Amino acid sequence: MTIQMKNISKVFETETMDTYALKEIDLNIYAGDYVSISGPSGCGKSTLLSLLGLLDTATAGTYWLDGIDVTQLSLDDAATMRNRKIGFIFQSFNLIDELSVFDNVALPLRYSDMKSTRTDIENRVKECLELVGITHRSSHKPNQLSGGQQQRVAIARALVANPAILLIDEPTGNLDSKSGDQVMGVLEKLNEQGTTLCMVTHDPRYSDLARTRLQLLDGEFLNVPEAGQPV
Ligand code: ADP
Ligand code: ADP
Repeated sequence: MTIQMKNISKVFETETMDTYALKEIDLNIYAGDYVSISGPSGCGKSTLLSLLGLLDTATAGTYWLDGIDVTQLSLDDAATMRNRKIGFIFQSFNLIDELSVFDNVALPLRYSDMKSTRTDIENRVKECLELVGITHRSSHKPNQLSGGQQQRVAIARALVANPAILLIDEPTGNLDSKSGDQVMGVLEKLNEQGTTLCMVTHDPRYSDLARTRLQLLDGEFLNVPEAGQPV
């Protein structure tokens, strides 16, 4: 199992009140699964994604990522774990304008503590560009590409270090519907080839594509996750 959360709660304490963003949730995601998380604004989607991505820590509960209890990790160890195990895709593509498509995708490997040779990096980047269908744009800069193309570059960058799971936040939020469909097509193809996906989306057309569809309301799952039957 790639992800196992047990009794995870997240409380934001402010001077005036405590907000229970997540209330004792359980979540299992199996390797190869395609999970969508939807729900109204304020229901806890971003909070859950930050916890899953080790960008924030839970107030209570246990979270195992690839079998490791990450609730006990130091900040440094959590960062290492994040770089090795997790790929992120956001609504805004977060590419570096000064770098070519190729160099944007190569970046996680060049900065990784897992030393790769130049040839290894080159081959892996080419493979990922191929997977998202953007090889013909390798030497372009991000601002020379359409939004859909930029998002495909961001997907290639998220994939390049072979993460255990891709965490995806509203991937089509900045795209017209045609580019959005294209990006979702790429994600679907990756999942068919074995990549584990966990995606937050408002768009019912896209959440319906997932195998395991979860709905959050006020920090709790509406449909108790028989989440992630083994696939
Ligand atoms: P969603 O992504 O579904 O819109 P969030 O996870 O952003 O929901 O928020 C869940 C709840 O937690 C909301 O009530 C929100 O106001 C609250 N919340 C989120 N982040 C913070 C924070 N840093 N401080 C205080 N409250 C927060
Ligand atoms: P192509 O290989 O023709 O660029 P893609 O599938 O990579 O096709 O691009 C998706 C869509 O984006 C196509 O409809 C293409 O015409 C359009 N497109 C390509 N380049 C740009 C650009 N620089 N700015 C805006 N749209 C573009």
